[in-house]
Amino acid sequence: MKSSTLPAPAATGRPALEVEGLCVDLRTPSGTVRAVDGVGFSVRRGRTLALLGESGCGKSMTALSIVGLLDPMAEVTNGSVRVSGTDVLTLGEAGRRKLAGPVLSIVFQDALTALNPVQPVGRQLAEPFRIHRGLSRRRAAEEAVELMRRVGIPEPRLRARSYPHQFSGGMRQRLLIAMAVALDPDVLIADEPTTALDVTVQAQIMRLLRDLQTERDMALVLITHDLAVVAQRADDVVVMYAGNVVETGPVAEVFARPRHPYTKALLDSVPEHAVRGRPLPSVPGSPPELSAIPSGCVFQARCPMARDICVRERPRPVSAGAARTAACHFSEELDRA
Ligand code: SF4
Repeated sequence: MKSSTLPAPAATGRPALEVEGLCVDLRTPSGTVRAVDGVGFSVRRGRTLALLGESGCGKSMTALSIVGLLDPMAEVTNGSVRVSGTDVLTLGEAGRRKLAGPVLSIVFQDALTALNPVQPVGRQLAEPFRIHRGLSRRRAAEEAVELMRRVGIPEPRLRARSYPHQFSGGMRQRLLIAMAVALDPDVLIADEPTTALDVTVQAQIMRLLRDLQTERDMALVLITHDLAVVAQRADDVVVMYAGNVVETGPVAEVFARPRHPYTKALLDSVPEHAVRGRPLPSVPGSPPELSAIPSGCVFQARCPMARDICVRERPRPVSAGAARTAACHFSEELDRA
């Protein structure tokens, strides 16, 4: 098993979420491939950690492993995931169900498919209160209305009787967030929570998530490919590429002085770095197929700094300053550039 270096703690006490050496294999028609390879990070209550990378880099697969919702074709083959001290990978179905809601929760990007289309939203929101808190039907319905009010649904008592398709995309996302935070989880994972929404609604949803996180002192894991969202909303960042963690650390420091060529390439690709009259820089090439991940550095085919050793040896994550790690043989050179 590959070891992963966890970012150094920024506060006292045990992190709410600790992921270490997580490996996920995927069965495909042409054989088994590794989709997540030795991923590790930790998040404390009240902090936001962003998992950043292009699509297909293993972010969502990491999230689904944590919450136990992996596709049957995927399997966790190594590593550990501790949520508030409990090793969730060793739990059976019943143990997982007990944790889902009061301890660990997830918000998906597609609210329409995540909500039950044939049940009024009030009844769906009341369910966690009945199942986990044993409230009566009436009390649970009251809690659901209160929750709808809290996440900004107008006329919640009336709207509790509506079905998911009768809400706008932004309002549906609010409902999904309400469901996820209903039982005050220690850890909330938000997987691209605003991707399908327009820019104004995106900002409102991100503000709602931040306010709820502060109110309920949750650890938030934000899965995104949006650098602006990371810069504005996250404390720490884990940059992933081809199923591997390539850089970790506090967002402000990583974005100001990236220590991995992939992070630097991502940052160079945003419009603020464009020079007038010259084409917009982008990360040249595309990530490797999971069936063709090279044995040396996973980024070698797209890296402008690649040398012989990069083809031969996979760089391990090593310290790159206080609370920072980078998996690059030449990260110090990048720091001096
Ligand atoms: S190890 Fe080599 S190929 Fe990989 S990111 Fe660093 S310089 Fe580039």
